[in-house]
Parts: sequence; structure tokens; C-alpha cells
Amino acid sequence: MNFIIPPAERVTLPVVGSDAVFPVRRVYCVGQNYAAHAAEMGSDGRQPPFFFCKPPDALVAGGGRIAYPPRTANLQHEVELVVALREGGADIPEARALDCVFGYAVGIDLTRRDLQAQAKERGRPWEMGKAFDQSGPVSALAPVAQCGHPGGRIWLKVNGDARQDGELGQMIWNVAEVIANLSTYLTLAAGDLIFTGTPAGVSVVARGDALECGIDGVGRLAIELV
Ligand code: MN
Repeated sequence: MNFIIPPAERVTLPVVGSDAVFPVRRVYCVGQNYAAHAAEMGSDGRQPPFFFCKPPDALVAGGGRIAYPPRTANLQHEVELVVALREGGADIPEARALDCVFGYAVGIDLTRRDLQAQAKERGRPWEMGKAFDQSGPVSALAPVAQCGHPGGRIWLKVNGDARQDGELGQMIWNVAEVIANLSTYLTLAAGDLIFTGTPAGVSVVARGDALECGIDGVGRLAIELV
């Protein structure tokens, strides 16, 4: 192939226990998938899941140093279980959905809450609040073959202080339901990631803050805002 400009590098995630890496296709995110977080965002009751996207090159594999982003005075963390698909399809039945999962990771859906709030208020798209550079730090993937389908604790600390502490069982729409529902809107494929929403306790972070988070049986992730 003779490219007119250098093509962008393929985005990949490391896989625990393997030299091979996971090639990322698309990155989907679920909004307000824990009741207590939905409540802190002003929602009430069980709504159908809704989705937005981050560009794959917004991922930061392994976390580490992340530049505090421009155009915000209200950067917030959302720790999330990230699902990685080994196969996809359209209209995937709920009963078959977990067979599509390659593995799981810990991710942070970094959010410029002020820009997201303005967008919500004006009925405009969320991208500038959600899909900015380095907005998706994510750990190495733990394959299902090793970790099974996780069901434990999900937590995040800022400078050692607990901010988010929930259980995956608190998800309004579980992983199988999320995959099944999302696949009614579009065709999912191998390489797709899904950030599955965050428990309560999101808070503002600043330059210099160190964030550490984890999910039982999946892994841990640490970032520093510089
Ligand atoms: Mn989120």
C-alpha cells in the first residue's frame, strides 16, 4: 500500500499472560449504568441503556502520566469495567452475548464534566466532553479463559482517598444485556471495547493528582495527571 501520508498506528492493548496484543476496533461507552451514579447525574429509575463513543486513539494502554486536558475546569474520573470482544454480530441474543467476550480490563472514562453539562443543556453532542485526547486510560486485558466473568468490587482512589467503591452487581444493565442491546443499533465486531458505566462517587481531579483503581479479578490501573 502506497499511503499519501503516514497512516495512523494501530491501537492495541496488552494481554495478561501473552506476548500477543489485542487490536482495538471501536470504543463504545454506556451512560449511567449504576443507579447511584445515575441519581448523582440527575436521572431517575431504570432507563434503557444509552451509548456514546470514544475514538480508539484516546485509549492510554497501561495508564501512567496523562496530560491534564485543555478547555476544562471540571475534569472527573469514572472507573469502569471494560469488555473486549473477540467476536461480534448484529442482534446478538442475550444468552449468546458472553460468548463474544475475549476479556476484561479496568478503564477510566475521563470526562470534561463542564463541557458535557453544556452539551446536555443545549442538546448538543457529547464528544468534546468525552472523546478528547487521552480520555480513556485502560489496563491490560485479562482473558476470560483466566479471569472468568468478573462480579466483584470496583473502586477508585484519588491520592489514596477512596472516591468510588461499588460492585459490578450494581450495574443496571449487565454485560450480556449491554452487548445484546448495543448490537440492536449496529453490528459489533472483534476488537470492539465497551466501557460499561461507572458506580457513584465521581469527583473533580486536578493536575498533580494520582488516581488508582481496580476491579476484583480483573486488574488495577494507575494514572497521574500532569
Ligand atoms: Mn462513563
